[in-house]
Amino acid sequence: MIIDRDAAGREAVDLDACDAIVVRDGRVLAADGRLVELAPADQPEASLRIYLGRERDRPLVGLVPVDASFGSDYDGIGGDRMRGLRDLLAGFWDRGVEGARDHELATTAVAIAAWHATHPRCSLCGVPTEPSQGGWVRRCEPCGRDHYPRTDPAIIVAITDPDDRLLLAHASHWSPRRFSHLAGYVEPGETFEQAVHREVSEEASLDLTDLEYLGSQPWPFPASVMVAFRARAASADVTVDGIEISEARFVAREDVPGLVGDGQIVLAPKGSVARRMLEDWYGGPLPEPRADGPVDV
Ligand SMILES: [Zn+2]
Repeated sequence: MIIDRDAAGREAVDLDACDAIVVRDGRVLAADGRLVELAPADQPEASLRIYLGRERDRPLVGLVPVDASFGSDYDGIGGDRMRGLRDLLAGFWDRGVEGARDHELATTAVAIAAWHATHPRCSLCGVPTEPSQGGWVRRCEPCGRDHYPRTDPAIIVAITDPDDRLLLAHASHWSPRRFSHLAGYVEPGETFEQAVHREVSEEASLDLTDLEYLGSQPWPFPASVMVAFRARAASADVTVDGIEISEARFVAREDVPGLVGDGQIVLAPKGSVARRMLEDWYGGPLPEPRADGPVDV
C-alpha cells in the first residue's frame, strides 16, 4: 500500500482544496502513461469528488468532471487525454514503484466512480442518495441507510496437467485468438476455493488438486477483485462447456513463443494478474508478438 487511505479523515477533508486526478467512465486523465494531477485552480467543474487518501501529507481526490467530453480532445498540458485504465496497466507495470502508485490511485478512482455512477438511488426505498464521507458512502436521508461501495470477488486459476503444461482457454465473448486462464465470479455462500473447483468443473470438466493461493488484484471492470490460484488437473482430458468457454488446451512451455510470435494466441496484457500467473509458470517474461503477425481485433 503506497497511498494512506486515511479512512479516519474522510469526514473532515476539504475535497475542494485537494489536488485531483480526473476520472470518468473507466478512464483517467493521463499523459505519457502517467496520471496527471491538477491543482484546484486548474480543475474542471466537478460533479463528484472522491477522497483517495494521502500521499505523504498531501491529500488527493478523484474528480468526476461535469463536462462529459473533458479530456477527449484536450491537449492543454502536454498531450493529456482521458485514457482507459486497461490501456494504462502495462505502462504502470513497467514503471515499478511509481507505476504501482499510479495503479493504486487509478484503480481506486475508477472503481468508486463507477459505483457512484451505477448506484444513484437507495436500494431499499428507491429515492436518490447523496455522497458523504469523502465519497465512500452514499446516504439515504428518508430511511437513514448508509450504502457502501461494492467489490465482487472473482477467482482466476492457472491449471497445469500431469506434464506441467498450462491450460489456456478461450471465452466465447473474447476477441478471436485471446487465450487465458479459467476465471469466474464467486457465488454467495461459497469460499474462494469452492468457486475455483465449481468454475473449472463447469467450464472444462476438470478435477483439481494442489490448489494454492497466489495473490489478488483489484480489477474495476467494473467492480471486481481477482483472486488468483494455481492448481493441478488430475488429467489432461479437458471438455469445454461450449457456452462460456469455446476452446481450451494444455500448452507446453516450448510451444508458447511460437504461438505468441505468430499471433495464433494473444495473451493477457502486461500488468494484469493473469499475465503474472502465465509468466510465473513460464519461468520468465513471455515473448511479444512479431510485428508482422496478425493483429488482434
Ligand atoms: Zn432509502
